Amino acid sequence: MSRVYNFSAGPAVLPEEVLQEAAQEMMDYRGTGMSVMEMSHRSKAFDQIIQEAEADLRDLLHIPGNYRVLFLQGGASLQFAMIPMNLMKNRVADYIVTGQWAKKAYQEAQKYGTAHKIASSEDETFSYIPDCSDLPISPDADYVYICENNTIYGTKYKKLPNTKGKLLVSDVSSCFLSEPMDVEKYGIIYGGVQKNIGPAGMVISIVREDLITEDVLPGTPTMMKFKTHADANSLYNTPNCYCIYICGKVFQWLKSMGGLEAMKERNEKKAAILYQFLDESRLFRGTVRKEDRSLMNVPFVTGDKEMDARFVAAAEEAGFVNLKGHRSVGGMRASIYNAMPVEGVEKLVAFMKAFEKEQM
Ligand SMILES: *Cc1c(COP(=O)(O)O)cnc(C)c1O
Repeated sequence: MSRVYNFSAGPAVLPEEVLQEAAQEMMDYRGTGMSVMEMSHRSKAFDQIIQEAEADLRDLLHIPGNYRVLFLQGGASLQFAMIPMNLMKNRVADYIVTGQWAKKAYQEAQKYGTAHKIASSEDETFSYIPDCSDLPISPDADYVYICENNTIYGTKYKKLPNTKGKLLVSDVSSCFLSEPMDVEKYGIIYGGVQKNIGPAGMVISIVREDLITEDVLPGTPTMMKFKTHADANSLYNTPNCYCIYICGKVFQWLKSMGGLEAMKERNEKKAAILYQFLDESRLFRGTVRKEDRSLMNVPFVTGDKEMDARFVAAAEEAGFVNLKGHRSVGGMRASIYNAMPVEGVEKLVAFMKAFEKEQM
C-alpha cells in the first residue's frame, strides 16, 4: 500500500486512523454482521452512530443547547437556497462577496428576494477580505451572509463582520473544525463536510432554534425546511448514513488529538511552514494579502504558467498530488486541512526548495 500526500481542496484527505477503523468494520460492524452501508437508518446500531456523532460535534464546538445540529444532503450548495427559503421573512438579505462560493450564494438568494451585495473583494481577484467594521447593513435585512474561509482564493475572516445586530449566517465548509468558534455569534453555521470532515454528499447545519419555524417562504419544499429535519432529528428521510458514520469517526479522532484548540495550534504550525517559505522564496509567492491568509487553503504562483505546470507535474511524480490551483486563479493551491500531517507540509516545502534550486 502506498499513500500520497493529497493536497486536494475537496473531497480531501481523511485521517488514516479513521480509514483503517472503517476498513476493519466494513464486513461486520460491531457484531451486527453487516456494514454500516447495509443497515437501516432506523436500527439501534445506526441510532447510536448518529447520536454519538452529534454529541461529539457538540463537545468539540461547545454548541449551546439552543442550537440544533442537522445532518443534511445536497451539499453546501443546497444551503444557498435553503437559507433564504427559511430566513428571508422580509425578503431582504445582505451578502459579502469574497469569492465564488459567496457569489453563488448571493446569486441564488436573488431568486427569493432582494439580496444586497454590501461588500466585495472581486476588484482584486478576491485576494483579500474587505473591511467589515462599518458596512451599509440594510435596516430590514433578515440576515448578513459570509463565506468565512474562501476555499478557492485562500482568504479567511480573522474578525467577523459588524452586522449591527443582524443575524450572521456563515459558510464554513473549508474551515469547519479547524479551530474553535464562538457558535453564539451566529444564527447559522454550515459546511459541506467533504473539505475538512468526511466524505462528499452531506452538509452539517448548526441552526439557532428560534430560526427553525413553519414560517418559511411559500412553496418551500418539505425537504428544504429546517423544521422538517429538526423535528425528525435528521431522520425525516434516509440520510447519508455512511457519511454520518465517517464524520462521527473524524469527530472522535479530533477529540483524541486534543480538540479544536490543539488543531488550531497544529494548523497554525503547518500554515506557518508554508507561508514562511513562500515569503522567502525567489520562485514562488503567495497570492493573498498577508493578514487575510487562510490556514487551510494556500494558493501560490511562480508568475509563469509553464513553470507552474512543470512544478505541478514534478510534484505529482514525487507523491504530492492535487496541487493544481482552481481554474479561476491558476497556479497552485495546497489545501492543508486537519488531516494533513505536519510532515506532509514539511516534505512539500523541502520539495519546493529543491525544485526552486534546480530552476535558479
Ligand atoms: C466546496 C464548497 C462549497 C460547495 O460544496 P458542495 O458540497 O459541493 O455543494 C460551498 N462553499 C464552500 C466555502 C466550499 O468550499
